[in-house]
Amino acid sequence: MKQIPYGRQNINKEDIDSVVKILKSDWLTQGPMIERFEKAVAEYAGAKYAVAVNSATAALHLACLAAGLEPQDRLWTSPNSFVASANCGLYCGAEVDFVDIDARTYNMSVEMLSRKLESAAKTHTLPKVVVPVHFSGQSCDMAAIANLAKKYQFTIVEDASHAIGGSYLDSKIGCCQYSDMTVFSFHPVKIVTTGEGGMVLTNNKDLYDKLVLLRSHGITRNTELMTEKSHGLWYYQQIELGYNYRITDIQAALGHSQLSRIDSFIARRREIADRYNALLKDLPVITPWQDGYADSAWHLYVIRIKLDEISASHSRVFEFLREAGIGVNLHYIPIHMQPYYSKLGFKKGMFTEAEKYYQEAISLPIYFDLQDEEQDYIVAKIREVLG
Ligand SMILES: *Cc1c(COP(=O)(O)O)cnc(C)c1O
Repeated sequence: MKQIPYGRQNINKEDIDSVVKILKSDWLTQGPMIERFEKAVAEYAGAKYAVAVNSATAALHLACLAAGLEPQDRLWTSPNSFVASANCGLYCGAEVDFVDIDARTYNMSVEMLSRKLESAAKTHTLPKVVVPVHFSGQSCDMAAIANLAKKYQFTIVEDASHAIGGSYLDSKIGCCQYSDMTVFSFHPVKIVTTGEGGMVLTNNKDLYDKLVLLRSHGITRNTELMTEKSHGLWYYQQIELGYNYRITDIQAALGHSQLSRIDSFIARRREIADRYNALLKDLPVITPWQDGYADSAWHLYVIRIKLDEISASHSRVFEFLREAGIGVNLHYIPIHMQPYYSKLGFKKGMFTEAEKYYQEAISLPIYFDLQDEEQDYIVAKIREVLG
């Protein structure tokens, strides 16, 4: 039986040609394509600067370092995310904590964030960095979070791994109007892909300079930043402890070509989401609620099973759909319930809304090439198992 995945890339002839062109050129990495790709994404999202790296995980790490996150500092994020949203804090030696989710959007609850900040202010345990995750492609309420950032003095790093192409109020996600930095992922299941890849966007020149430095070993060839006069044309200095988080020109070429189709990618995802909304209407499921300020990029389409209205269990529904060749998935196992985080002291019961969501959620297939007939089949199978 043909398997239907939950997400997959769309690669066309132009994508392939643009990659082959780079393969035949002088530069496989650190060539002109990376800057072109960065410029194109920055322009698309409406930010001043962009730094392309080899994954969103690397992008989150660099963003935290650029924000000055250190041991004894704190990073807060959503428990309903991929582990990378929290791990970036641990990479810096900082303490990580979570803010429970909103019951409707499955994003970090602004009300909970506000309350947690209020009590953290009293015990001098405020976070240095907060990472709101735009779950499934729907923006968090960034204006409200930015207000809290002003009041409590933390840096905002948006994890927009799901959300390139989405909007908040009148601007594109990634414009950094309400944040210090925004991170995109270009993993193949995301909206546009480079194979592996990520990017940090910002409007702040200082942050941009730090990100560029840390992306490549902390090495500079800029004589103004050096501690002594250049020894000659070969000379460079390492002035920070950086990494090799560079992306290749091959990947950047793919990303640049993909980006030219982003509007059609998003349009098709919206169509699929609308169609699911209509087809699932009379079934015992909760379809994704959309806030008025957000226009989702629809990386994911998540339903919640109304377990008290059906006889099958959540895992049985999941299993039934997998057996029918439907690559359903679950986003996410709450991060604080991962064994690694248990060792850090987190326990079940700490973020109950995320835990409750986890008991009921199922991600249905959504991607550019998903056919209407496949979608009809998926819905028919859901009807069968819930019926
Ligand atoms: C995919 C994803 C990441 C990590 O992206 P990579 O590019 O695979 O490193 C981080 N955060 C979220 C929310 C993601 O979905």
